[in-house]
Amino acid sequence: MCNTISIESEKGFFSDAINAVKARTADLALKYFIETYGCQMNEHDSEKLAGMLRECGYTKAETKKDADLILFNTCCVREHAEKRTFGNVGFVKELKAENPRLILGVCGCMMQQKDVAKRLFDRFPFVDLVFGTHELKNFPEMLLKALEEKRVFQISESDGEVIEGLPVERVEGFSTFVNIMYGCNNFCTYCIVPYVRGRERSRKAEDIVNEVREVVSSGYKEITLLGQNVNSYSSDGLDFPALLRLVCREVPELKRLRFMTSHPKDLSDGLIQAMSELDNLCKHIHLPVQSGSDRILKAMNRKYTSGAYLELVDKLRSAVANVEITTDIIVGFPGETDEDFEATCELVRRVGYSNAYTFAYSPRGGTIAARMENQIPEDEKKRRLNTLNAVLAETIPSNNDKYIGFEGEILVEGVDHRGDPLLFGKLSNFKMVYVEGDEKLIGTFVPVKVDGYRFNSLFGHIIDG
Ligand code: SF4
Repeated sequence: MCNTISIESEKGFFSDAINAVKARTADLALKYFIETYGCQMNEHDSEKLAGMLRECGYTKAETKKDADLILFNTCCVREHAEKRTFGNVGFVKELKAENPRLILGVCGCMMQQKDVAKRLFDRFPFVDLVFGTHELKNFPEMLLKALEEKRVFQISESDGEVIEGLPVERVEGFSTFVNIMYGCNNFCTYCIVPYVRGRERSRKAEDIVNEVREVVSSGYKEITLLGQNVNSYSSDGLDFPALLRLVCREVPELKRLRFMTSHPKDLSDGLIQAMSELDNLCKHIHLPVQSGSDRILKAMNRKYTSGAYLELVDKLRSAVANVEITTDIIVGFPGETDEDFEATCELVRRVGYSNAYTFAYSPRGGTIAARMENQIPEDEKKRRLNTLNAVLAETIPSNNDKYIGFEGEILVEGVDHRGDPLLFGKLSNFKMVYVEGDEKLIGTFVPVKVDGYRFNSLFGHIIDG
């Protein structure tokens, strides 16, 4: 059973810490700078940290140099993450010499790995604050201690609770994220996430709907529901498709609802039906396949076969008009043979992804795959990655022929100045479209017709709505 903690009901403890920080820093006009690495989960955690700092009276600094508090929100998923983080933290030492009141904090997934966090804390005595992913709600209290010139090292071993009511300072724009669940139960053998984010905890549907409503009323036009595996969302008898239906029904003014990430083993017929029926639910799914070889999928503990995956793709394509599928693929997983790799290339040709994030396998300390014996040499992994990217460079554009003459609506995100200025924005199915038009259209929905394409981008013109 997951434990939900409401900051509202813990007002005393939470706001006492915020008030104490405020009292201590009054009239100092302190500024913060947060550097975020990794996925949308981390980005959203940084928005919560920024929200708490706003409540504490801090404002945002444009650069690290202007800041009185620098936070590194770290990720341990990407390659060489530890080396990069240690390098970046070391660089800030100089800034501390220039601004003695500067507080330096390091948090996020990497700091949830106690041995790494301890190494960083010991190696850099000028770091004031180190805390793990389950400590967000204690941030004002930890900041207060740091302001009192105490060094803080706080990492909880628990899976964490669902915390409701934390203030959020969202990045400005038209699209934003709402968490629906935290953690992961899947233990794919290459992945560190279940160890640093804990087991799955779903938020209550009511809290999610209220947050979506609030975010829409503050002007956001597109929301992505976030979770490591949204398809296993479950709260008070509601599954993920039921949650999507509820959000669309309760907040009809939300024009675009997205979600990520979907684990293929949990993608249900109910979700495919919801995608086909709900107009406001975007026609895009990010469905990481990771490998096209059943042998490697088994070694990865993914719990589906390439055949089952392809069946899902067929179901999606036949039920959801204009659906686009993107994916993640790892090449060079321990024990991957030429035949296994060829199976991946074959699957990529067969699916016809609209985009793919491709990676050469790199071991993450603490995972099962890192201890597997049959690791693939680096140069071979690189060769396979290049080959796979070449396959994608052929298959992605060839799927764009069907878009010539296509009419749809984009949410204009900005202006691309690389050549003649062009507005850009995405269709519901995540395809990017470039058109000529007035900058005033940024943040609005605009009807467009597609005239051509280049690699995975479409080019067109605005039409009368
Ligand atoms: S589903 Fe697998 S890859 Fe995704 S977060 Fe969970 S363990 Fe990691």
